[in-house]
Amino acid sequence: SAKGQHAPNKLSVSADHWSESWEVDDLYAKSQEHVMATWGPGSYIRGAPILSHGEGCHLWDVHGNKYLDWTCQAICTNLGYSVPPAVLEAAYKQMKKLPMAYGGLGNTEIRVRLASLLSELLPGDINGFLFPSGGSEANEAAIRLARRYTGRSKIINHYRSYHGGSSAALTATGDFRRGFAEAAAPAPGFVKTMNPNDSYLFSFGSTDEERTAKSLGYLEEQIKCEGPNTIAAIMLESLVGSGGVLKAPKGYMEGVRALCDKYGIVLICDEVMVGFGRTGKFWGFQHYDIIPDIVTSAKGLTGAYMPLSMVAVRSHIKDYFEVNPVGWGATFQAHPVACAVGYECVKFMLEKDLVRHAKEVIEPIMQKHIDRFAEKYDSVARGRVVGAFGCLDLVDPRTGAPVQNFDGSDCSKPEAITIFRAALKENGLYGFVRPPMFHCAPALVIQPEEPWICLT
Ligand code: PLP
Repeated sequence: SAKGQHAPNKLSVSADHWSESWEVDDLYAKSQEHVMATWGPGSYIRGAPILSHGEGCHLWDVHGNKYLDWTCQAICTNLGYSVPPAVLEAAYKQMKKLPMAYGGLGNTEIRVRLASLLSELLPGDINGFLFPSGGSEANEAAIRLARRYTGRSKIINHYRSYHGGSSAALTATGDFRRGFAEAAAPAPGFVKTMNPNDSYLFSFGSTDEERTAKSLGYLEEQIKCEGPNTIAAIMLESLVGSGGVLKAPKGYMEGVRALCDKYGIVLICDEVMVGFGRTGKFWGFQHYDIIPDIVTSAKGLTGAYMPLSMVAVRSHIKDYFEVNPVGWGATFQAHPVACAVGYECVKFMLEKDLVRHAKEVIEPIMQKHIDRFAEKYDSVARGRVVGAFGCLDLVDPRTGAPVQNFDGSDCSKPEAITIFRAALKENGLYGFVRPPMFHCAPALVIQPEEPWICLT
């Protein structure tokens, strides 16, 4: 038999494994046999193309079909698929020079240089850095820092939020996790508060002023009821990303900052999705007049070419951990090759002025298209754009109700989503559909003359 009860202990696997290329049919057959999906049932990945290569803002599958990557995969491949030569070279050089250095034991030049570069790009006294491997891990670390720094345990998050898939990050996550409730068996110490926005479900008033005042009032009541001296951090996405590109109304984040100051609470801004220019500002929190105590980010740091994230802290927190251990030591933290890639990607972003490009070039084009979609199609209720980050709210045209609940648990129109996904594929768009929304987030390097204008 191909696979006995015991795994072979010598090189006796099928010779097929070493053949240079596989027939496309074989690839699909082996995928069916062995590859597990993550965000949905197996069928979710069976219907997805097997990708072969990319160039610019485009991807190709093994059949030779070309797609425009309309959501930068998971809003992460911000620099597209033509890797800047300096990034390639830096990865190669670092791989040759020192391919690994365990960050819990020692240090590297590239880690110091990346930290130093990022500290100049962050305002105020945000000057201490950890470098985990992904967004969830960064948020886990941020939660740990806040708890250890304050000696308190509770973390307050928004209902409409996504903070990651690992234990604390998933419990911190709001309505997105309801569909996976047993995986997110609520760990104690997380409290949810209302978002101040007007999109679906939230009804704290009809004007921004009213929404800001009511949400902040509610938040302060919660803090008092929970006991201020039990609350370590308020951790919020600077702009809600997966939950629909929601910028906080005027005054809200400033109000949260003031409450944190009043009650000695750490303010964590989760910038995993919006950091590194996605919203037309280098950092999402720069849309407001605040300085967070901790900023987490990931994806755009390396254009998602390598797994690397960032936890940046203000000097009072850094100083605390000069004498107290963080108590965290993931093997791949501050991986030197990932740091080298991150360093060059940030340099590339600055050289190409991509943040300005997102705001001044991409935003107006996307706004125009999104407005047109909303006007033309009854199934698009409305859209929002902030920089190069946009989103359409998909509704059932007969009822105006969202096509699916946020967590996918009560899927009133699953067929609509299946049809929508198939239509994207047929029209050469590769995109992450998170019903009841469809995100629009092309690479920050996209140019006006590229064929994205043909979207109708
Ligand atoms: N936080 C936010 C705001 C995110 O959007 C994401 C991922 O989309 C995460 C955290 C989790 O990051 P990762 O998937 O790298 O673990």
